[in-house]
Amino acid sequence: MQPYPRADERLRMVEYQIAARGICDQRVLSAMKEVPRHLFVPPPYDRSAYEDCPLPIGNGQTISQPYIVALMTELLALQPADSVLEIGTGCGYQAAILGVLVRQVTTIERIPEVAGLAMANLAAFGSKNVEVIVADGTLGNPQKAPYDGIIITAATPSVPRPLIEQLAEGGRLVAPVGGHAIQELIRLRKKDGSVQEEHHGGVRFVPLIGECGWSG
Ligand code: SAH
Repeated sequence: MQPYPRADERLRMVEYQIAARGICDQRVLSAMKEVPRHLFVPPPYDRSAYEDCPLPIGNGQTISQPYIVALMTELLALQPADSVLEIGTGCGYQAAILGVLVRQVTTIERIPEVAGLAMANLAAFGSKNVEVIVADGTLGNPQKAPYDGIIITAATPSVPRPLIEQLAEGGRLVAPVGGHAIQELIRLRKKDGSVQEEHHGGVRFVPLIGECGWSG
C-alpha cells in the first residue's frame, strides 16, 4: 500500500510526542506512523492533526491527543488475534489504530451524526475489520462478547458493570474514571475470575453519557 501523505509529520509525532514519553510497543508505534490522523480530523483542524493536543470533531466532541491514544492502546497489550470493543467512537481514529493491530474491532457511538463521520473516515482509510454501532455503549455489545480488550474513550464515574462482564478471562480494560473535570486512567485485568486494578495518571475526556455512565 502507498503511504498516505504527511508521513513525515507522523514520524515526528511518533518520535517526539509518543516514543520520547516512554511508549515502546513497536506495533503501537508503527500503527501510529501508518494511520493518517489528518483523515479523521474535519477541516479546518485537519491542518493541526499531528500537533500534541486533542482537537474538536463537531457535536461538542473531540479526538484525543496522539499520546493518549498511544498510551491507552499500549495498556491494552494487544495480540493480533484479539477481539476489541471500544466505547466512544468519535471520529474513528482510535478504532482505526486498533483495527491495524487486532483481528476484530467493534466500536459504539451514541451520537448518530458522529458515528456517520467515523464510518466515512474508516471507509476512506480502508479499515475492513471495524464495525461501528450506534447505541449506548455503557451496556456493551453482548453479541460478540467476550472481548480480549475493552477501551472506554469517554469519562465515566465508574467502569460500567456490563463491560466488566463482557471482558474475557485474561482480558484488559482501559478507561478514564473519575469526575467531569479530571479522571484517572485505569487498567483492569480479569484473572482467575477476579479483577485487578492499576492506575496510570490523570487525563481529561468528554463525558460517557448513558445508563451506566453520566446521566447527561
Ligand atoms: N475514540 C475517539 C474519541 C472519542 S470522544 C477518537 O479516536 O477520537 C468520546 C466519544 O464518546 C464522543 O463521540 C461521545 O459522543 C461518545 N460517547 C459518550 N457517551 C457514550 C455512550 N454511552 N456510548 C457510546 N458513545 C458515547
